[in-house]
Amino acid sequence: MNCEMCGADDAEYKTIIEGTELTVCSKCSKHGKVLHKPQMIIRKKEFARFKKEEKPEIIEKIISEYGTKIRKARTKKKMTQEEFAQKLSIKESLLNKIENSALKPSIPLAQKLEKVLKIRLIEEIEETKLKIKKSETEAVTVGDLIDFE
Ligand SMILES: [Zn+2]
Repeated sequence: MNCEMCGADDAEYKTIIEGTELTVCSKCSKHGKVLHKPQMIIRKKEFARFKKEEKPEIIEKIISEYGTKIRKARTKKKMTQEEFAQKLSIKESLLNKIENSALKPSIPLAQKLEKVLKIRLIEEIEETKLKIKKSETEAVTVGDLIDFE
């Protein structure tokens, strides 16, 4: 908005100058009585509350004894690690690590192992997560509010 006295483009002051209400810039506002001064304040809304999620999340987890369970089931089937790895189309070294509990299989691989060996490797855990909302910062022009007072 342009100043009604000098034309400057930062006119934000409602000012009574010689009996007339004008919207002028900060310089010109000094010539009259300022009714309405703009000022920015920052209001902080704190939302840092813990919010419980209504639906618990189902988390698929590989059981802790997966290594021995796989090894046992494989030997039962009289398959070597090499043969079994081939059947699963994975590397023998990977299977070896899994059987030694050095590496957890991914969920899809575990599902495959479950099918082939007819064992349970995945357990489902219900988990209710606590979420934290970050605080939000809101900027408001006080002038907009004063008008109605
Ligand atoms: Zn001006």
